[in-house]
Amino acid sequence: MNSLRGLDIKYVKGVGPKRAELLTAQLGIRTAYDLLHHFPTHYLDRSTVYQISKFDGDMPAVQVRGRFVSFNTIGEGAKMRLVGLFSDGTRAMDVVWFKGIATLKRNLLTDTEYVLFGKPTVFNGRWQMSHPEIESPGSSLAATGIRGIYPLTETLRTRGIGSRQFQLWTQNLLDAHPALHDTLPPSVVRQLGLISLDAAIRAIHCPPDNATLQAARLRLKFEELFYIQVDMLRRNRKRKGQSVGHVMPRVGDVFNGFYAECLPFPLTGAQKRVVKEIRADMISGHQMNRLVQGDVGSGKTLVAVMAMLIAVDNGMQACLMAPTEILATQHFETISELLAPIGVRVGLLKGSTKAAERRTIHEGLRDGSLQILVGTHALIEDDVEFRDLGLAVIDEQHRFGVAQRARLWGKNTIGPHVLVMTATPIPRTLAMTVYGDLDVSVIDELPPGRKPVTTVLRYEPQRLQVYKATYAQLRAGRQVYIVYPLIDENEKLDLRSLSEGYDIIRDTFRDFKVAFVHGRMKPAEKDWQMQLFASGEARILVATTVIEVGVNVPNASVMIIENAERFGLSQLHQLRGRVGRGADQSYCILMSRHNIAKDTRKRLELMTQTTDGFVVAEADMQMRGPGDIEGTMQSGTPFELRLTNLATDGIVVQMARDAAERLLDSDPELSQPDNAPFRRELEATVKRTADWSRIS
Ligand code: ADP
Ligand code: MG
Repeated sequence: MNSLRGLDIKYVKGVGPKRAELLTAQLGIRTAYDLLHHFPTHYLDRSTVYQISKFDGDMPAVQVRGRFVSFNTIGEGAKMRLVGLFSDGTRAMDVVWFKGIATLKRNLLTDTEYVLFGKPTVFNGRWQMSHPEIESPGSSLAATGIRGIYPLTETLRTRGIGSRQFQLWTQNLLDAHPALHDTLPPSVVRQLGLISLDAAIRAIHCPPDNATLQAARLRLKFEELFYIQVDMLRRNRKRKGQSVGHVMPRVGDVFNGFYAECLPFPLTGAQKRVVKEIRADMISGHQMNRLVQGDVGSGKTLVAVMAMLIAVDNGMQACLMAPTEILATQHFETISELLAPIGVRVGLLKGSTKAAERRTIHEGLRDGSLQILVGTHALIEDDVEFRDLGLAVIDEQHRFGVAQRARLWGKNTIGPHVLVMTATPIPRTLAMTVYGDLDVSVIDELPPGRKPVTTVLRYEPQRLQVYKATYAQLRAGRQVYIVYPLIDENEKLDLRSLSEGYDIIRDTFRDFKVAFVHGRMKPAEKDWQMQLFASGEARILVATTVIEVGVNVPNASVMIIENAERFGLSQLHQLRGRVGRGADQSYCILMSRHNIAKDTRKRLELMTQTTDGFVVAEADMQMRGPGDIEGTMQSGTPFELRLTNLATDGIVVQMARDAAERLLDSDPELSQPDNAPFRRELEATVKRTADWSRIS
């Protein structure tokens, strides 16, 4: 493979310098290696020919066989297009071209049989295909059983480069390179019964039959995952082997006192388990690097508090960093109240903290009298210095960039243990791949007595009913959130719709006080409004997503989300988590426009069907692809998965994980001669711009 990495695409037979340039610009294909790894996304089976009369609904790209009845050139200049009337005997459709018209007119014939491949769409009530791939049924390629369809761009297509070209080029390239050397360790290939790399690459571009194609896809999916797993595990083992962590063997008065006297309720089984896992990390002598996933309301705060108390018991300090001032304040209040009876000193540091207070906090941190610090980004500012930071807890990690997390490190020669808590569950396969070198704990149990939130989807004409039901809840003493999307806090338009909404709500619910917050308010004003609502004085809170994370008002039982179609699944789930915190039945009402895309409707309907955050996260990944899942998005994509779909290929991920463990058990340094080609390939494949997946 390494020789192919060095071979410029322009030297591949049939490509040449002009097309090479185009391929690089359009698809980033520079070398023969890149070309061989530009895989078809789907396949066209020559045995399946669709009938035009059977076209229905949202069609995939399909193959039809028939003849052109006539050709017409319509329009002029830039708007000129060629329309061919194509019939397969069951019905006719329009075939439209906007480019390359002269050539097409010269070459295409009526009354000759062609096979077209393209996506049928409806235009002016008629089926049409634009720029389909065209072949005569007799051509050598058309005769092959299964043909790959390559991902292409519109520009390439209009320049006459289609799947057919890719097939020819890869064929030419493979003919010139009779045997590609295998890259996986021979032991792995043998144990798993994988087909050879050479066979896999050939079959994926030109499958002799479906069984071989499946074997090829498995081998190549495994291959891309295996590199990632080996790389991550290797780093993880190295980190664990090398990183020195504060040893915290003592479970002393503070922890025990808290457990015996301050715990407001028994821990759930899941909370107990996770505290144990954390404790094991903190006595291991290695630095903890742990992600705690737990659905909204699963009680992560308490777990964090207990972890911080272990640090305090061992004479060290702990900090908890939250993404917003409101959340930091709430954490501070909860935690200082919890810990007051055992005399642990807790401080709060926010951007808005006054200079004098700030100085006192800095002092307390330096001389160690302040044991726990809660705060926002402010606590990773340069002048904050701990005497002895033993544990850093980061709440809702996706709000923090990795660089910010990394800065926590520099406070001491031995880095603190790090605990990241997230309420955005990450599907297991994604966690294994993206957070492969992070240990993961899951709080998969809610405290007892919670009633699942009832979620409904409502459209504009039903607004009055929604308000009626809301009114009934208000009369019963409950509180209500009404959330508007404000994707970008600077969007003037959204702000207008928000304040209009506020006016309407005040008008509709005249008997009740309405609080109002949005991201552009001054922090003091925001706090004041939040306080109005938290205290129960205001019964309705009109807000943007600033309330998304963490706000805790157990008396609130209704969450109305306006323009719900504009939110992602995870975000909706987070918002919904604001209600259902008390003993009363709660409701989440998703208000949406009526004419929304099918996918959007599916997304919203899913919310009405489940309250399980992991199910929501899985679905989010299925629908949007793993790259868009919150949390990974910010971190960027560290590698490219060409074939694997993390949403559906969980088994292959596990296979790769297990095989990677076995390989590193038997050859930790990959120094055995058998594994040398693999090591070289690994180093060439895993190029990372930043070591982003590690907290350190
Ligand atoms: P999250 O995981 O979303 O951060 P919190 O830590 O804010 O959840 O906890 C949500 C609510 O559940 C809080 O009011 C908290 O006091 C309560 N809680 C936490 N653990 C338990 C438990 N074991 N039993 C009962 N209630 C609990
Ligand atoms: Mg929380």
